[in-house]
This record gives sequence, C-alpha cells and structure tokens, in this order.
Amino acid sequence: MVNRGDYISDSEWQRFQDFSKDRETPCIIMNLQTIRENYQRLRGLFPYSEIYYAVKANPDPEIISMLAEMDSCFDIASRPELDKVLALGVIPERISYGNTIKKARDIAYFYEKGVRMFATDSKEDLKNIASAAPGAKIYVRILVENSVTADWPLSRKFGCHPDMAYDLLILARDLGLVPYGISFHVGSQQRDIGQWDDAIAKTKYLFSSLEEDEGIRLSMINMGGGFPASYTTPTNDLSEYATEIRRYLEDDFGDDLPKIILEPGRSLVGNAGILMTEVVLVSRKNNTALNRWVYLDAGKFNGLIETLDESIKYPIVTSKDAPGVKEAEVILAGPTCDSMDILYEDYKYRLPVDLKVGDKLYFLSTGAYTASYASVGFNGFLPIKTHIM
Ligand SMILES: *Cc1c(COP(=O)(O)O)cnc(C)c1O
Repeated sequence: MVNRGDYISDSEWQRFQDFSKDRETPCIIMNLQTIRENYQRLRGLFPYSEIYYAVKANPDPEIISMLAEMDSCFDIASRPELDKVLALGVIPERISYGNTIKKARDIAYFYEKGVRMFATDSKEDLKNIASAAPGAKIYVRILVENSVTADWPLSRKFGCHPDMAYDLLILARDLGLVPYGISFHVGSQQRDIGQWDDAIAKTKYLFSSLEEDEGIRLSMINMGGGFPASYTTPTNDLSEYATEIRRYLEDDFGDDLPKIILEPGRSLVGNAGILMTEVVLVSRKNNTALNRWVYLDAGKFNGLIETLDESIKYPIVTSKDAPGVKEAEVILAGPTCDSMDILYEDYKYRLPVDLKVGDKLYFLSTGAYTASYASVGFNGFLPIKTHIM
C-alpha cells in the first residue's frame, strides 16, 4: 500500500472521491487546477525560459486551452496535433514543429499554416525544410545517451552526433534557412540531473565552434522535457533540477544566456491524473499458489502502456486501503486476451488480501502518456474515457 498522502492531499482526494463516485470504470480523471499549479511552478523555477508544452503527453482540448490562456507555447509532432492546437486559437508563432521525422508535405503544411520553427537531425530532412519552408528557423537535435537513469528513455531514435549537428547548421545557413539553435531531450522521467550538464556542455561546444569557425551565432537552446512526475521510484524535487540546471547554464554561458526553451510533458500533467479501474477477477493458478492474480478493467491497451517492461511504477491505492489492513503480493494484469497485457509481475505490489471483484484501484499520477497512448479498441475494449475535474 502506498502512502496516499505522499501523492495527493486529503482535501484533493476527497474532491476526487466526490467527483468520481458514480462514474463508470475504467476512466481517467484530470485535475486542471493541478496542471495550472504545475505550470506556474515551472514558470517560477525557470523564469528565464519559454515553455512549449509537449502536446503528446496529454492532448485533451481543455488542457491545451487552459495552457494557451496561461501563455504557453506548444511542441507539436504531426498535422492532426497542429490542426487541433490551431483550432483552439493558438497562433503559429507559439508553435514549434519538434518532430525530426516528417514528410516533405507535412513540412509544407506547417509552413502554410504559419509555423516557422523546425527541428531536424538529418540532411535529408533539412533539405526538405529548405524547399518547403524557406527562411525558417532551424534547431538541430543532438544525441544524448540516457537509457540508464531515465525511466522512459528517448535515446537512439532522435538526434545526431554533435559533429553532424555542426555540419547541418552550416548547411542550414547555406540553404537560406536561419541556423537558430540546438535541442536535446535527456530522456523522459530522467532521475539523474547530471544528464543536463552533459547535454549543455555539448551545446556550448557547438555554439562556440560555429561562431569561431563560421561566424554563425546561434541564439536558442531547447532543453526538451525529462522533468519528473511522482511515481513510486523517488526523484529529486523539481526545485533541485532548476538550481542545478541554472548552474550548468551559467558555468557554460555565463550571464549571457541564449533564449531557453523547455518542453515539459510528463512534469506538467502526470500528477494531475488518476486512472480509476475496477477488479474484474481475483484468482490463483493452483490451489497452493502464494500469489493472487488481480485482473483489472484497464491494462496495457487502454491507458497503462508505460507499464511496458514495468518501466513506470504508478502509486496504486485501493478502495480497501485502511490503516493496519492485511496485505499480500499480487500480480496485476489487464482485461484483454493478450498475455502482453500483464502490468506488474516482477515488481510485486502489495494489496489488501480481502480485495474483491468490483473493488476499485486508483492509479495515481496517470495524467501523462495514458489517455491517447492506447489502442483504438483491441478486443473490443473502448479507448479509456477522460473526465476533466
Ligand atoms: C515527448 C517529448 C517531450 C516531453 O517529454 P517529457 O519527458 O514528457 O517532459 C519534449 N520534447 C520532445 C521533442 C518530445 O518528443
């Protein structure tokens, strides 16, 4: 049993209980006020930066609208994401096309809609940008190694070696584009703050060498996401990230900081969601088996995909939790007919022994990478519903 108070206050929990009482499971309940506070806190801790919300973390229109009202900018990866954000009244000047993997006609579409800032990490893509988005601002994403300390790594697939980034920024200039900056992503749910030190040092090297060798003055660093939400594996507080990262920036850039962009996803919306699910079946695989299998109406295909490899360990609260309640280890699984739909088997959650069919489980901190990161109806199970509180 997790200590619920470590994740959510009693009054917030009560409000959640009242709101969720008669709702059908499975569903995700998002607390807009928590996102608002997270945004303000991030603003306060990184006052020198601009925030581009990574829409993929949770693309709910109400979340986008609220962040837009709070002056957030947006990191967008596809045409449908762009259309959605524009339809909600966001102006293209507040949008960055952050996906390095895109078709030439997607670039043309973004350009036509007024977007002028593009990420890249390859020559082929850069040439496409030069033809379809003449004069656009280019930032190059560099590779950073982050598979050990990030709970959801984003390494290998994105970014290029700094030597290639150097060449690409020169090529950008030669193709009539604006060589604008460098980006990186140290890996999502990055627990090692030192990873930013490394990435900022590589960035500094590129700023200096491009200016000295080529007279190219870059003006922006996009430090990506990676800031944590609260799961069961402990992390430093966000304020420690802020202090350390500020120090790394000053060590390398002194007082003359370039424009800094952050692209938070998980840290803005993660702890604002609670996934409510119901026990469908409790069983044992033989008469003397020690472990119970607890099957839920939510699983890997409808909201809990980040349990892949048991990467993200959500805090789980049950409707049977009470002080002194007797608990035992369980294996947790989803409802579909696919054996991949096991949530936690190596890592054993301890849940009340009198857990019964129909009891509720509450997965806390499920506001990020859940609702839209799911199948459309595998086995007939519908995509999970979101309610905004
Ligand atoms: C997913 C993504 C983010 C958000 O990362 P978090 O770790 O969720 O904050 C930011 N930038 C880019 C380019 C991304 O792909």
